Amino acid sequence: MPQPSLKIDRARYLLTVDGQRRIIRDGSILVEDGRITRVGKADELASVRADRVIDARHLVVTPGFCNGHMHISYAHPVRGIFPDDQGSPLKHVFALQAAMTEDEEYHATLLGLVELLRNGTVCFLDPGSTKFPDACLQAYTDAGIRVIMGDGVTDREAPWPLARYDTAEAVRRTSAFIDKWHGKLEGRLRAWAMPFSPETCSPELLQALKRVADERRTGLTLHHGSGDQARKEYQARGAKSPTQYLESLGVLGPNVLLAHALGIDDAEVDCVARTGASVAMCPVTAAKGARGAGSLGRMPELLARGVSVALGCDSPNNSNHLDLVRAMNMAAIQYKDARQDMTQIPAEKALEMATRVGATAMGVGDQIGSIEPGKRADLVCFDTQRPEWQALWNPVSNLVYNTDGRSIHTVVVDGRVVVDGYRQAFVDEPRLYAKVQEIGEQLQARTGITFPHSRWPVV
Ligand SMILES: [Zn+2]
Repeated sequence: MPQPSLKIDRARYLLTVDGQRRIIRDGSILVEDGRITRVGKADELASVRADRVIDARHLVVTPGFCNGHMHISYAHPVRGIFPDDQGSPLKHVFALQAAMTEDEEYHATLLGLVELLRNGTVCFLDPGSTKFPDACLQAYTDAGIRVIMGDGVTDREAPWPLARYDTAEAVRRTSAFIDKWHGKLEGRLRAWAMPFSPETCSPELLQALKRVADERRTGLTLHHGSGDQARKEYQARGAKSPTQYLESLGVLGPNVLLAHALGIDDAEVDCVARTGASVAMCPVTAAKGARGAGSLGRMPELLARGVSVALGCDSPNNSNHLDLVRAMNMAAIQYKDARQDMTQIPAEKALEMATRVGATAMGVGDQIGSIEPGKRADLVCFDTQRPEWQALWNPVSNLVYNTDGRSIHTVVVDGRVVVDGYRQAFVDEPRLYAKVQEIGEQLQARTGITFPHSRWPVV
């Protein structure tokens, strides 16, 4: 049975992010059977009827947001426990993750989905951190979101407790995962190969997983970083840099998404551009973690070379929020400041990374990322009847510099309204919040991983 049709009627602005980057004032969109079929001036679509019509006179409509690196499964119950000056929490992160039960991961994921959707994310990539995909599938189904997931694997000793297998087993698990999951959720779920990083996987494993991704026409993502120290270490082993090492193995290509990619030099930027690989950068994680995006981040150079760069929120203990509007804001301001150059990352570039360009980086650019006839209907509607949207002259500037996800009024995924007038309908939020708080208490008690909850006396 076809889905009910939907009309977004008389939007104050439609930011289409289409081929011409048209901004349509007083625009309407028709959605039929989950797909955008018409986009234009409201008057041109005035006679068009639909099963549901949303009065969008006070709304600014954008394509749905794509989050290219987002560990959804573990962090919500313990969000905020790590002091903001303690350095890398990774040792604790992976120990907490390993300790989570299926029920705990399901509820943490559910909360992640509420936060993602209410902040306009319609498609996210979990880089192999979900331990219980069968349980989480129910949450994804209920939420109606798009997800890219995989079985996170390594075959080498790592400084943290990661899932480690022998090489053949890691390859077998990855193939089996993709065969089982790819295309589920009526095509909204994509399964990728997900080796953790070049340092925790052997060259044989990386090459084998790239072959698995190629053969199954799907993607591969891994954590990636470089820098002076890393280049020295790789040079001692005969490679020029971490990125050139991956290229020499044949592991880079258009279906590969490198996460973070901080510290890459000019030659490594060339290497990413040459091979057609994409990058997911997490600007808030980089800033909060004092990672030096200013000196080590190459977002402007990657974009200038035509590399598709997606934005990510990493995990709720890194950026601490799952709001891509705030990630766009950080991307747009951090390079201006770091380079003392106001021409870096204009607001329009930031919006492209969250939509069209990010969707391409994540391999879904043919389906979503812009408001055009033929694309699946993934839409975000911002409520302009709020102080932060005043005055409204340049909607892209207001979106990136004035607002955050809290003014998101309505979200549509695949033609279905999943957030409707600020409300989602797939979970009872107060009950879920209480449950996740309780899980956090139990996890800290069970693992002994806890920290003073405040520097100030709590009385
Ligand atoms: Zn990550």
